[in-house]
Amino acid sequence: MAQSTGSGESDAEFILSLNAGSSSLKFSLYKAAREPDEIAVGQVESLGPNARFKARIGPQQVEDNLGSADHHVALQAILEQCETVLQGKAPACIGHRIAHGGVDYEGPQLLTPQVMEKLALLEPLAPLHQPHNLAAVRASVEAFPDALQIGCFDTAFHRSHPWVNDTFGLPLKYYDRGVRRYGFHGLSYEYITGTLARIDPELASGRVVIAHLGNGASMCGVLNGRSIASTMGFSALDGLPMGTRCGQLDPGVVLYLMDQEGLSAHELTKLLYNESGLKGLSDETNDMRTLEASQRPEAEMAIEYYTFRARRELGALAASLHGIDGVVFCGGIGENSATIRARICNGMDWMGITLDGRANMANEMSIGLGRTKVLVIPTDEERIIARAASRALDQLAATES
Ligand code: AMP
Repeated sequence: MAQSTGSGESDAEFILSLNAGSSSLKFSLYKAAREPDEIAVGQVESLGPNARFKARIGPQQVEDNLGSADHHVALQAILEQCETVLQGKAPACIGHRIAHGGVDYEGPQLLTPQVMEKLALLEPLAPLHQPHNLAAVRASVEAFPDALQIGCFDTAFHRSHPWVNDTFGLPLKYYDRGVRRYGFHGLSYEYITGTLARIDPELASGRVVIAHLGNGASMCGVLNGRSIASTMGFSALDGLPMGTRCGQLDPGVVLYLMDQEGLSAHELTKLLYNESGLKGLSDETNDMRTLEASQRPEAEMAIEYYTFRARRELGALAASLHGIDGVVFCGGIGENSATIRARICNGMDWMGITLDGRANMANEMSIGLGRTKVLVIPTDEERIIARAASRALDQLAATES
């Protein structure tokens, strides 16, 4: 067994990016550079009594049963397994994906105890994500006391929203108290806008709707690389229906479920976050691949609702942008499902969106035939974290020299 790298010597060579969820700890290990070089990627999944480690470390595929594991144990397992490439050195910077940065954080932050205190206050705004994100930071501070710890926020990309897309129609005092449309999936949108700027600068300077369609799903209207509007709002529940989350909902439904059906806040949270969306509608699964293969009418109904809502939001975001020059699909569903992309784009010719059926089926990068470009770009949120970590190390080196 490899030694714990907690006492290992820090070395600017390595950057670890961590993405902690309730049941998994995903990681990517990089060699630091302006464009970090990924040397290992994987995750500990099914945190709890039967956790499993799965990764590619250098050229090797590695799998292991860990038994019982929380975030601390999972992090130790990642370090031990990565010892073949770390060779006794500790990462010099750990970059963390953090769901909520509130109104203050427009970019990556050094995770000082003061910043951690402020982030803990945001836990009620992202109850399924923020506590796990912060638990991983604490485990990481313990494992690497000498390393820089950097937080990268899913809300930060959306701080450029104009006020009308940042607010709800509630008394203004609630806006001042933080009841705002924060938007999420910002690391994914930052990666996609950065990639667009490289591969198609003309489109990147125009009006683009990015559809991040994974287990969590949202769409973002981007003008000249900046977020103008997003389907996700105050919480990660709003907008598109998702794997297990409901998406947009009349708040009257929540009042009804409380008053007439007697659901508590806790039961409502479970219903809206864990039992709705594709899973709730299909009464089967949150997994789109399984739904596509299913013959059950409920599976088809779930897909029909999903693609209908996506079309509706696409139109709404195009209106927010005063037109549209391009659509980008990303996320597990957006990148892999030609059927869902085709069903979302179906009937959108009036917006200049016409798919090239062959290119779509072949999962090519450019799949549009009309005046509005349609692209498929695999997203890479971990790389955005690694770039931020690399910049932080450069800044530290500059202040020390
Ligand atoms: P993510 O959260 O980004 O990993 O995306 C997970 C979702 O992508 C799940 O619903 C998967 O079923 C879906 N997905 C992955 N590959 C495919 C595929 N080839 N066809 C349809 N859905 C897919």
